[in-house]
Amino acid sequence: MKTQLLPATDESLALAARLFEEGQLVAFPTETVYGLGAHALDRKAVLGIFAAKGRPADNPLIVHIHDRSQLEGICEVNDLALRLMDAFWPGPLTIILPRKAAVPDEVTAKLDTVAVRMPSHPVAMALLKACNLPIAAPSANRSGKPSPTSAKHVFDDMDGRIPLIIDGGESDVGLESTVISLVGEKPCILRPGGVTKAMLEEVIGPVDLAGSILRPLEKGEKALSPGMMYKHYSPDGQVTLIEGEESAVVEALRRLYAHADSEGHRACVMCFTEHVEALADCHPHDIGPKGDPSEVAHRLFATLRDLDDEKMDVIFSEVVPPEGVGLAVMNRLGRAAAFRTVNAEEIIRI
Ligand code: AMP
Ligand code: MG
Repeated sequence: MKTQLLPATDESLALAARLFEEGQLVAFPTETVYGLGAHALDRKAVLGIFAAKGRPADNPLIVHIHDRSQLEGICEVNDLALRLMDAFWPGPLTIILPRKAAVPDEVTAKLDTVAVRMPSHPVAMALLKACNLPIAAPSANRSGKPSPTSAKHVFDDMDGRIPLIIDGGESDVGLESTVISLVGEKPCILRPGGVTKAMLEEVIGPVDLAGSILRPLEKGEKALSPGMMYKHYSPDGQVTLIEGEESAVVEALRRLYAHADSEGHRACVMCFTEHVEALADCHPHDIGPKGDPSEVAHRLFATLRDLDDEKMDVIFSEVVPPEGVGLAVMNRLGRAAAFRTVNAEEIIRI
């Protein structure tokens, strides 16, 4: 199959809408990451998403809408959900609600709940309006690769597998949406993202955080969000996170890099903009300014893809405090590192 990569124009969006109606797949930009969409109520079309991504069938999809009236046939809406929609839609918040029968099992992975979101990206909105269909769309990467934040990333993963990619520039947030479940006793964040715990609590009061956000699942522990089961966001090289006081971290990065380099590894460091100069000999990748976790979020997946392209096999990274958007960054970076973390002071002492 030939994959067209087209800028977002009235014509390309009309073509995309036609493809959705025919049950085909289209990748499109959203403010979080690029999505790989199909008509959510067309079982065969939805199966195509799993095939193109190589995604396990037990990992459910998010249904994207442009108008709340579309939810009528999809899920049961409650008062908390309405308050969240008023506050955060359109935007990077996915809400888990009880499903309705019309939603195919392929979308929900046979769960009795469904994930719904209204994206704010103007191209995503224009496309959802043009087709006027609920669109099931996970991230447009091959399963196991970092989520795509540019049309080029999508093309690298999906060339030959889907008919059309709409190019809408770089995704603004850069990390997938916050996922909140409203089906348990208390609202619970299953996946942190651009909409933070504090922002949610301001609107609906206390919210729980799923236990496995900053650690691997324990043996036998059930993932509340099935996507958390999988080894996600992991580059081919081995990533190690370095914690500690700022100057100790810079010194530890320098020593760890030098050691790996002397052993013949293709090594590099992921560091804040402020440390790029001090680490100029350590193949630095600039992850953004210290104290700006939103910028780190925006750059993270593109950086992880660069590491693969450069065939890096040993990577040492700085960390951000796991608060606000930093929690979402550390959830993804932690998984990229399989939660391997060392303390800078200990490295320096050796
Ligand atoms: P992606 O869009 O690729 O990030 O994948 C969608 C994410 O939403 C995955 O992590 C899923 O596990 C999660 N998700 C989708 N539907 C549900 C659901 N009904 N319950 C819990 N998590 C869900
Ligand atoms: Mg994904």
